[in-house]
Amino acid sequence: MSLTMQIPTAAGAGSPDARWFAHPALPLFSGPVYESRLGTDQTGGRQYLDQIRRTPGPFTDPDLITEETLAQFEKFKILGAGGLGCEILKNLAMSRFKNIHVIDMDTIDISNLNRQFLFRKSDVGKYKAEVAARFVQQRVQGVSITAHNNRIQDFDEDFYKQFQLVICGLDSIEARRWINAMLVSIAEDADESMGPDAIKPLIDGGTEGFKGQARVIFPSITSCIECQLDMHAPRAAVPLCTIASIPRQPEHCVEWAHVIAWDAEKPFPKLDKDDPEHVTWLYRKALARAQEFNIPGVTYSLTQGTIKNIIPAIASTNAIIAAACCNEAFKIATCSAQALGFENNYMMYSGNDSIYTYTFKHEKKNDCPVCGRQARPLEVKPSMTLQELVDSFAVRPEAQLKKPSLRAQNKTLYMQFPPGLEEQTRPNLVKSLADLGLEHGQQIVVTDPAFPLEFDFVLKFKA
Ligand SMILES: [Zn+2]
Repeated sequence: MSLTMQIPTAAGAGSPDARWFAHPALPLFSGPVYESRLGTDQTGGRQYLDQIRRTPGPFTDPDLITEETLAQFEKFKILGAGGLGCEILKNLAMSRFKNIHVIDMDTIDISNLNRQFLFRKSDVGKYKAEVAARFVQQRVQGVSITAHNNRIQDFDEDFYKQFQLVICGLDSIEARRWINAMLVSIAEDADESMGPDAIKPLIDGGTEGFKGQARVIFPSITSCIECQLDMHAPRAAVPLCTIASIPRQPEHCVEWAHVIAWDAEKPFPKLDKDDPEHVTWLYRKALARAQEFNIPGVTYSLTQGTIKNIIPAIASTNAIIAAACCNEAFKIATCSAQALGFENNYMMYSGNDSIYTYTFKHEKKNDCPVCGRQARPLEVKPSMTLQELVDSFAVRPEAQLKKPSLRAQNKTLYMQFPPGLEEQTRPNLVKSLADLGLEHGQQIVVTDPAFPLEFDFVLKFKA
């Protein structure tokens, strides 16, 4: 099946297609197709949605609203995944997308029921994708939802090629980077026969407490998730010395109980963060330490949140972000209004202090390891050891690689896998970069098992 997506091809990247931009001459709510609307669709409440689809707005090309493009929308195949799944699935079905696939490997936990509204108590333990798909299919007529109880990484290029659009509400940055790299590689490797179908818009939504973002990526054309990685800088870890000597915040006391007291006293053989008895033990320890240093604020739920690194998911924030994502999907699929993408491509939302939203254009980066063409500069001291360099990849906001393996031209510096090679290259870890013969301006290649790609860096020595 080949559907023509109304988006420019990679070749037209510099001069985005006029179809995406304003037609100021066009008055709102007029157009040749408008008159025929009532004649063709009188199916209850749905006619209003059809009215939007059949009515060119100020930003749409009236020529696109033909019976053919309307029929294409009916065939539009869309993929959704992740934690915002309930909201996204409901919104897509209500927007009359007919062919939806959903991927989620998780099973339903009782703690999901407060916000993941497609699930009931009797569903606890069942697969989320399956239950959600069944619920929405029963409720919304004419929608077909295929559930995949998998990780997104379980599928290959051929699987992803079948969709016209991907919406992700994933809860891990790792999974986002993976799907991003996959869609960019499909766009870049596509041959002529795929045409504009090779560009599969990626709509990404994410929330953290009262904050969230929605962004649209045209793989290989606009700024991708890897370009924007520094927007998700890892949270700074509290130094162990602070935890061990002078705690200042209640979280420091919890970390002390978690990291130091637990190891010293071993109250249970192995820490289970879901076992209330274990959490209570940590809470009591943390509370005693907090009282010693006069620090207020240690509670049971703070203890639980700190050790599990939890930021509570808030149902309403999820609803706002999922709605924004699905509206963009609808606009892209129907051309009914200008979507995020070529100009503004990133919408951030913050409800922490009152309400604030800001939409801007995140620029594509030439040195992006996924969609760029250049190696990325890596500032290092020649005196640092290879071990220090390896460790630094986890915390560098632009890299965030937990298990990096490093190669220089013709030379393996350190490989995490396989075990034999790891053992062979381990002695390099204690050597300095200078001792390893690395030079200013030299290129190194970094790989990580979590990502199907190579990261090119060019060393920039500094004193
Ligand atoms: Zn990129």
